[in-house]
Amino acid sequence: MPTCFDKTKNLKRKSINTLQINIGYKCNLTCEHCHFQAGPLRTEQMSWAVMQDILKFTQENNISNIDITGGAPELNPFIKDFIKELKLINSIKNINLRTNLVILNAPEYSEFPEFFAKNSIELTASLPCYLEENVDKQRGNEVFKNSVKAIKKLNSLGYGQENTSLQLNMVYNPRGAKLPPDQQDLEKAYKKYLKSEYNIIFNNLYTITNLPIGRFKDELTLQNSIEEYENLLKSSFNPNNLGNLMCLSQLSVDWQGKLYDCDFNQALGLAVPTDNPYIDKVKLTDIKDLPVIFYEHCYACCAGNGSSCTGSLTST
Ligand code: SF4
Ligand code: SF4
Repeated sequence: MPTCFDKTKNLKRKSINTLQINIGYKCNLTCEHCHFQAGPLRTEQMSWAVMQDILKFTQENNISNIDITGGAPELNPFIKDFIKELKLINSIKNINLRTNLVILNAPEYSEFPEFFAKNSIELTASLPCYLEENVDKQRGNEVFKNSVKAIKKLNSLGYGQENTSLQLNMVYNPRGAKLPPDQQDLEKAYKKYLKSEYNIIFNNLYTITNLPIGRFKDELTLQNSIEEYENLLKSSFNPNNLGNLMCLSQLSVDWQGKLYDCDFNQALGLAVPTDNPYIDKVKLTDIKDLPVIFYEHCYACCAGNGSSCTGSLTST
């Protein structure tokens, strides 16, 4: 067990408005930074029964934002029906889905872009660099080329365009023992390069700091730089990020319906500290007074400009 992260001892949950739903760890890619070690051989997939429990919880607790992640959510056979049911819940103001883009080019999943557009689903996609070589090193051969192809398709449906409400966001995360650069500056550089070289557009860039867990930790350990990275995270601690940590206003649920403070605590198996932390057994009011589980991996969310699933927490 890692040591407790004492700088967070006075933090309390705010009202929970976002439910991040991890639909399963099966993925068509095996990115080197993946904190879930997701890949084609993973078999964990959310069942329709667990989805029913999530729908009930969302409705009963007035959740306003849904964030669907994985793995590759498109690989779950129930995903479309699940999204259609989520759309019927009045309290929900926005549904975001995290796509790896590459899957949208596979013939059996090629109808997803139209489905997402028709249902006004916000899309957030990993594109850890605007340079082909760097993306392919981090995510696999031809991932960049296939990502550009998928973005072109999404742009043609209105995603990222000024005259529509279809939001398309990109996610940057660094390679190696480094913190992300300034989010606003990098967004400008991404937009300029991708427009001029590939004629593709998007709305927002989110910079995310890698947590020293999962495949990223293995990679740094192999490179003998894990200690250097952990020291960098600690020495870059910025207290201004504490009040904005995403775990204070969201919950994460795994493929079995188990609840966590965030996706990273899910990857580490740190469920919310209650006897039966399953979504069909708890109410939001039960969770409100439970402490968030903070350990040393949380330095990654607090370093520099901070980090969350929607990018940096403070600006420079
Ligand atoms: S980072 Fe995303 S796309 Fe890459 S292996 Fe993990 S779940 Fe799949
Ligand atoms: S990893 Fe980040 S989001 Fe998760 S509990 Fe720690 S500080 Fe909060």
